[in-house]
Amino acid sequence: MAHELFQAHGLIRYSFGFDRAVRRAGQCDYQARRITLSKHFVVTSSIEQVQQVLLHEIAHALAGQQAGHGKIWKQKATEIGYRHEKLDGKEVAKNSAKYVGLCPGSHEHYRMRKPTRALSCKLCSPRFSANHLISWQES
Ligand SMILES: [Zn+2]
Ligand SMILES: [Zn+2]
Repeated sequence: MAHELFQAHGLIRYSFGFDRAVRRAGQCDYQARRITLSKHFVVTSSIEQVQQVLLHEIAHALAGQQAGHGKIWKQKATEIGYRHEKLDGKEVAKNSAKYVGLCPGSHEHYRMRKPTRALSCKLCSPRFSANHLISWQES
């Protein structure tokens, strides 16, 4: 699908691959001319979500590094069918996390592996606090 989309939108001399990121869905490496998607993201998301992230990254490749997420990138992205839906790192972490933890203050925490020691919620208390321990559940 990546290569089809590259072709359809005139992106040439770019390669595609997977990476192991947990906190973001995709990345565009301008120097290496390579777009990668998080494996975790791909296996836990719908084809449509994956396509949207690909379009997001393709727009980066087409608009160039300087464009950032500015006007030129936005225009390009819209042009090729990116819907600008919010898919932030938290959402990706949530989708791919194996363990979901809840503190007494109801903050959610995500981990790929079950933590081996007691963790307290940093949002409730910046220092370790036995009163704000997170309890983990397999998701
Ligand atoms: Zn971006
Ligand atoms: Zn908390």
